Amino acid sequence: MGQLDGKVAIVTGGGRGIGKAIALRLAGEGAAVLVNSATEKSCGAVAEEIKAAGGKALAVAGDVSEAEVAKAVVEAATKELGGLDILVNNAGITRDALLMRLKEEQWDEVMRVNLKSAFLLSQAAIRPMMKSRWGRIINITSIVGIIGNPGQTNYAASKAAMIGFTKSLAKEVASRNILVNAIAPGFIETSMTDELNAEWKEKLMGEIPQARFGHVDDIAGPVLFLCSDAANYITGTTLEVTGGMGM
Ligand code: NAP
Repeated sequence: MGQLDGKVAIVTGGGRGIGKAIALRLAGEGAAVLVNSATEKSCGAVAEEIKAAGGKALAVAGDVSEAEVAKAVVEAATKELGGLDILVNNAGITRDALLMRLKEEQWDEVMRVNLKSAFLLSQAAIRPMMKSRWGRIINITSIVGIIGNPGQTNYAASKAAMIGFTKSLAKEVASRNILVNAIAPGFIETSMTDELNAEWKEKLMGEIPQARFGHVDDIAGPVLFLCSDAANYITGTTLEVTGGMGM
């Protein structure tokens, strides 16, 4: 028996990195998972991996900051997987530059993909969740949204906004048994953080009390916890998963 038998989950940005680990973890606990990512190649491969392991999965590629795509993703979950219980808003990008040089397009793109997608998907998702009077929404924010980071004014603003969004939505839907929480990862080894140079990585390592970078499974576990019955009285919180960075 898995902890999520009979549940249906959507994981955006589930084709690689943290999202992939979350999709595999939820599926491993019995959830049917709609895996979304920008490209068909990566979400398709994750859905195949879940199915090969005996699970139920569906891949839907597309940019979830577009209203039509967000709507189609939720519809595919309800129609093809039979409902919607869990939404993990994980899709995210960085377009780093110091504010002096930050282009308007870099600001807009980060806000759109990181923040607007969470609004669009949550809005579409709460309807079926309200009907079944059970829902869990997990927003993947970042420690950078709490402590800031030079070169990431756009990214930090999008992630801080996600925390306010989480708390406000949590207050709106708590009485319907829809719980909305955020997870703020620290430095997790993925293609997103591969881009950083060695000097910057060394500096960051010095700020992590556990003295190691995080693994994608370090985030998937807390996501599972927030979806599980063990977290039935937790809503509106932001769980920092950082190895102690930023305390
Ligand atoms: P990643 O390795 O770059 O993977 C990002 C995933 O998001 C990919 O599957 C990508 O699709 C998908 N994606 C990008 N834009 C999309 C869009 N518009 N619509 C749908 N999917 C889209 O990133 P990651 O490091 O795993 O990060 C995942 C989340 O955790 C992000 O929200 C990030 O901000 C957050 N986070 C990461 C860290 C870290 O240290 N890595 C720390 C704090 C927070 P394709 O595979 O098709 O390209």
